[in-house]
Amino acid sequence: MGRASYAGGGHREHFSHGRNPLLGLIVWLFPRRGSSHTISLSRGSRVGCVADSALLARTFDLALQARAAGDHPFGALLAVDGVVVAEALNRVTTSRDMTAHAETELVRVLERDHLLDHVLGGVVYASCEPCPQCVGAMFWAGVGHVVYGLSAARLNALAPAPDGSVHGFTIRAAEIGAAAVPPMRFEGPIDEDTAAQVHDGFWT
Ligand SMILES: [Zn+2]
Repeated sequence: MGRASYAGGGHREHFSHGRNPLLGLIVWLFPRRGSSHTISLSRGSRVGCVADSALLARTFDLALQARAAGDHPFGALLAVDGVVVAEALNRVTTSRDMTAHAETELVRVLERDHLLDHVLGGVVYASCEPCPQCVGAMFWAGVGHVVYGLSAARLNALAPAPDGSVHGFTIRAAEIGAAAVPPMRFEGPIDEDTAAQVHDGFWT
């Protein structure tokens, strides 16, 4: 799928932390075989390589962390050559900020920690298809490639308004990305059944 560099074992290498020694605290190295992180390849998945699936699985873990903290179950991360550079959780409830979606929070982390240089050539992995707000935030940060788990359409079905109607956007992230200049590339849904499990019993 044009991402051969992510399957070549680059994740086994230590990521350059640049000039900020604190980055070591937030760099999450790709798990080695036998680690506690599970790799789920659902039947019929569009996933192109194991690294994609493992990184998505990490966003599902982040989403569960957000849920455990009392926030909405979403997570996102930026990876370069399969190595995680930064991670973020949804913080809508705990930060009393309704814009604190995981991908928008990721952009804030990248800016705060002087990591925006890593966006070019990196890939954002998100537990769910990003909403228009987050697509915009990532675009302004320079993100050009996003891989996600749950589709917005399935999320809308899982999290309806009280009257059962859709409460969210029906435009696809890929449609917004295609209209951007330069365009943004979106891949998903991937491992959607696993992605949906994170939301079990949360919205209803
Ligand atoms: Zn969003």
